[in-house]
Amino acid sequence: MNSLPLDFMTSPILLSPPHLGDRELEFVKQAFETNWIAPVGPHIDAFEQEFCQVVGSKYGAAVSSGTAALHLALRLVGVEPGDEVACSTLTFVATANPILYLGASPLFIDSDRTSWNMDPVLLSETLAQRDRQGKRPKAVILVHLYGQSADIQPIQAACQRYEIPLIEDAAESLGATYQGQSTGTFGDIGVYSFNGNKIITTSGGGMLVSNQPELISQAKFLATQARDPAPYYQHSQMGYNYRLSNVLAGIGRGQLQVLSDRVLSRRQNFAHYARALSHLPGIEFMPEAPFGQSTRWLTCVTFEPQLAGIDREQIRIALAQQNIEARPVWKPLHRQPLFAGCTSVGGAVAEDLFQRGLCLPSGSSLTVPERERVIEAIVAAYAKVKVTC
Ligand SMILES: *Cc1c(COP(=O)(O)O)cnc(C)c1O
Repeated sequence: MNSLPLDFMTSPILLSPPHLGDRELEFVKQAFETNWIAPVGPHIDAFEQEFCQVVGSKYGAAVSSGTAALHLALRLVGVEPGDEVACSTLTFVATANPILYLGASPLFIDSDRTSWNMDPVLLSETLAQRDRQGKRPKAVILVHLYGQSADIQPIQAACQRYEIPLIEDAAESLGATYQGQSTGTFGDIGVYSFNGNKIITTSGGGMLVSNQPELISQAKFLATQARDPAPYYQHSQMGYNYRLSNVLAGIGRGQLQVLSDRVLSRRQNFAHYARALSHLPGIEFMPEAPFGQSTRWLTCVTFEPQLAGIDREQIRIALAQQNIEARPVWKPLHRQPLFAGCTSVGGAVAEDLFQRGLCLPSGSSLTVPERERVIEAIVAAYAKVKVTC
């Protein structure tokens, strides 16, 4: 620790900062030199193709954010005012906001404990019940949280049984697999995010993938103000300005080249935290479900206060006092004031994970001494409560 700067012990450690590789600037420079500073251009086409190759999908549309991609996905499957959309409850609000944009209502489904993602049994029971009532949800949005795949197969089977389109929110799970296949490539449409905190970033951006070419051409059409093929500006449908910039697509192409390194670093963070902290009473690490490989985008832990003698919030505050950014697990959407009055199925698992769960600094650029500082701060927080009790 001798070579570390004096302010190392107080310099901030962030949850998941951007981590650029060696090639991004080269691609951005190309965009400048060729004057492709627009939401069209060669980097966009190349980024879409290279991205599809990495995840194993046929067609892709690069857009301005993951939220925009979700909004387009719901439009593409025909969600309209008054419709219901079944959706994971344990997730970031961006998963469900587009349901509201379209005047539809979310139907929140609880998590299972194996993957922390949508419980397939609850979903199929809910779809069966809605079917008996004669009003099926118009779509299912399945989230793959914190880099881990949901149990896709039974969820896909339930959707197929009731002929409901499946949209995968893979914003947090680029690089993760389910039975060896990339998350986001199972459903009718898969959605990814390149926001600054995600495993790779374009500073802001998203991607929509599908094996159905007409869905992707329709997505690009809607994302470009739904401009009809005419020599003048003619519009028959309501569109959006959702295309990604060619400059940012250049960043994306560079980031794509280091994706597997990023997955490795994040998995190493997790493994190291687990080795160093698992002995503490009442601590548990987010399980890795047997059906896939998680990227460990964020290392998540839960604290059982009865055993630990300290709760999630006390740990979070102790870390914040050391200038270490840790965040509670997502507050479930069925508990958000925004969605008061919306229907939810179950919810106790997601609520428990929120109450007890904490995300630790997990960036792929996190250094070993930084990781040690986080570990020491948690161990110290435990030791402190022992002394005062
Ligand atoms: C980040 C995120 C999104 C939204 O992506 P943006 O690119 O930030 O719009 C959607 N869903 C989940 C689960 C996310 O984590």
